[in-house]
Amino acid sequence: TGLVVAMDGPSGSGKSSVSRGAARALGLRYLDTGAMYRAMTWWMLCQGVDLTDPAAVAARCSEPAVLSGTDPDGPAIHVDGVDVAGPIREAEVTGAVSAVAAVPEVRARLVALQREIIGDGGIVVEGRDIGTVVWPDAAVKIYLTASPEARARRRSAELAGSTVEAQQQAMAKRDALDSTRKTDPLSMAVGAVELDTSDLTLEEVIAEVLRLVAE
Ligand code: C5P
Repeated sequence: TGLVVAMDGPSGSGKSSVSRGAARALGLRYLDTGAMYRAMTWWMLCQGVDLTDPAAVAARCSEPAVLSGTDPDGPAIHVDGVDVAGPIREAEVTGAVSAVAAVPEVRARLVALQREIIGDGGIVVEGRDIGTVVWPDAAVKIYLTASPEARARRRSAELAGSTVEAQQQAMAKRDALDSTRKTDPLSMAVGAVELDTSDLTLEEVIAEVLRLVAE
C-alpha cells in the first residue's frame, strides 16, 4: 500500500495547514477526520437530537451519509448530499462536537469510514487517534504540539473579531471536555515523532514533515 502519514495533535497545533501543505508537496491525498466528527455533529443538531444523551446519539449515528473528499486544495465534506464545509466551522458545532465524538458508536462508525477512505494509502490523515487507532501501521506518525499561547494566537487569527484571550479560554474548555471523557482519543502513538510548532513558521513545519517522510 501507499504511504500513510498520520498527523495527530490538539486544535490550534497547526494540524490542518501542515497536513494540507504536506499533502500538496508530496502529491498525496488529504483527509480531515475532525471535519467528519463536525459533520456528524451538524446533522445531530439539525435533527434536534439531545446531545447530552449518549444513547440517543448512538441510536441515530448510523443514519447520515457522511462523505469526505480528499483533495488538499479543496477539502469537501457533505452530509446527505448537503455541502457543510461552512456550517461545521461555526460556533454551535464547535461547542457541541466533543460530546458527539465521545460516543463510542459514533467513533466506531467514523473510524470505519476513515479506514475505507485511506484504503490503499497515498494520503496524509489529520486527527487525534490516527496513529493510535485508525491506522497504527502508518509509516510516518507525527504528533504536533504548540504552547497554549501559540494555539490561541492561531485560532484568533483564523476567526475575525475574536481575541487571543477569548480563544485561549474556549480552547482550554474544549481540551478539558475532550480529555476528561473516558474515550479521549488524543494520546501520542507508539513510534510517533513529536513536533513543537510554537516557534516555527508553517513553511518550517512542513519542511520538517517532508524531512521525516524522506527518512
Ligand atoms: O480537528 P478539529 O478541531 O476540527 O476536531 C473537532 C473535534 O472532533 C475535536 O475537538 C474532537 O472532539 C473530535 N475529533 C476526534 N477524533 C478525531 C478528530 C476529531 O474525537 N480523530
